[in-house]
Amino acid sequence: MRLSRYFLPVLKETPSEAQIVSHRYMLRAGMIKQAAAGIYSWLPLGFRVLKNIERIVHEEQQRAGHIPMLMPTLQSADLWRESGRYDDYGEEMLRITDRHGRDMLYGPTNEELITDIFRSHVGSYKDLPLTLYHIQWKFRDEIRPRFGVMRGREFYMKDGYNFDVDQASAIHAYNRHMVSYLRTYERMGLQAIPMRADSGPIGGEDTHEFLVLADTGESEVFYDSAITDLKMGDRAVDYDNWDDCAAIVREWTAPYARTDETHDAAVFAEVPQERQRRSRGIEVGQIFYFGTKYSEAMGARVVNDKGERVPVHMGSHGIGVSRLVGAIIEASHDDKGIIWPEGVTPFHCGIVNLRQGDEAADAACEALYASLKALGLEPLYDDRDERAGGKFATMDLIGLPWRITVGPRGLKNGVVELTSRRSGVSEEMTPEMAVERIAEVYAHHHRAAHAQPMPQRAFHTWI
Ligand code: ATP
Ligand code: MG
Repeated sequence: MRLSRYFLPVLKETPSEAQIVSHRYMLRAGMIKQAAAGIYSWLPLGFRVLKNIERIVHEEQQRAGHIPMLMPTLQSADLWRESGRYDDYGEEMLRITDRHGRDMLYGPTNEELITDIFRSHVGSYKDLPLTLYHIQWKFRDEIRPRFGVMRGREFYMKDGYNFDVDQASAIHAYNRHMVSYLRTYERMGLQAIPMRADSGPIGGEDTHEFLVLADTGESEVFYDSAITDLKMGDRAVDYDNWDDCAAIVREWTAPYARTDETHDAAVFAEVPQERQRRSRGIEVGQIFYFGTKYSEAMGARVVNDKGERVPVHMGSHGIGVSRLVGAIIEASHDDKGIIWPEGVTPFHCGIVNLRQGDEAADAACEALYASLKALGLEPLYDDRDERAGGKFATMDLIGLPWRITVGPRGLKNGVVELTSRRSGVSEEMTPEMAVERIAEVYAHHHRAAHAQPMPQRAFHTWI
């Protein structure tokens, strides 16, 4: 993309309404614009990051064997009356009446709708296990929307639902989700710690929240620092193997890690003192096993292998896709701007032309641009007729992990400069070498992310 033809409305001033760094940088970098309280338009740069996060979520869901679909944002109140949640959900539910006087709502979540789909089409244990998911906008009329996309009213969420014939199989689904979530967040360059949590209005016993450590997080968290040493890395996981998934869950749930809702000071005291940590965290996902709560209320039953009609065991599992954009910035920035992890960056690298209009500089930039594109990479070429200082400030603010700087002086010696946004280190090298280095970084990244092949049934057309 050439910056002269893009839409990147960067702000010089720090917007006064933004209280936390991610919100400030998202506004300043022209990623979002508020449309109404807690409701945002995603401008082109923000939209690219949102879509990258969404793609990783899709890939890891499907790697775990979960099936994508799409349910609507608007739902009929009738289903929610069946489950009893139409009254229970309270003020956060946006209720709408259509022209015929029918009660509708903008879905805050989809347990009822998916259970209705399930009961209409599935009747036998032979069709299980089944996990369906979608990524769709949600609405919760939060009393205090704040921190930009972190606590919006309209937000983008992946929600998945597992259906299993019995509790043991549903626990495997729970474990499988935990493993796939760990991998999802790692691919985004994040450490999200699973913490035992409180189930709230969804109900049920087993639930973990995934928290990214950040001072601006809304949750108070207590954990054993040993948990921060754990990595999924590129280990191969057989998602159909109950023991493999359970072993990984044991590894991550052995060290103490809880939110204030479930914190137990006596148990925490048993953690060696030098490893006790108390901090704040941003919730970027949650998994639940809730058994037969919805299937009993809504009559979702299957015939088991003994010929009995039993209520199906369910769980639901959410990832805050739009909140993650803010959470990643909270975890990865400096005083000049955002520092995108390679996995989610909106462009793979920036090209800064120090002397637009100089024949040699323009030609070198065009050649770099073409070679990067030919390798399947998407550079953002700052081809505007602007001062170098302004170009650098924009690049630092929008946080692309790599920058190639091209100027007449370097070109006389046959070199350009390659700069890492994270380390700030610059190196001179030939343009060919710079392209090779960037290509290698992303190839390495891609190999690590896909060390385990996608299952055949994976579907790649969502982008
Ligand atoms: P919170 O406690 O932050 O209000 P929640 O526990 O009610 O969230 P879930 O029902 O678990 O939310 O939703 C799944 C995920 O969706 C959350 O882990 C979070 O990342 C994201 N999410 C929830 N509410 C919002 C919101 N208002 N704005 C943006 N993302 C949200
Ligand atoms: Mg939650």
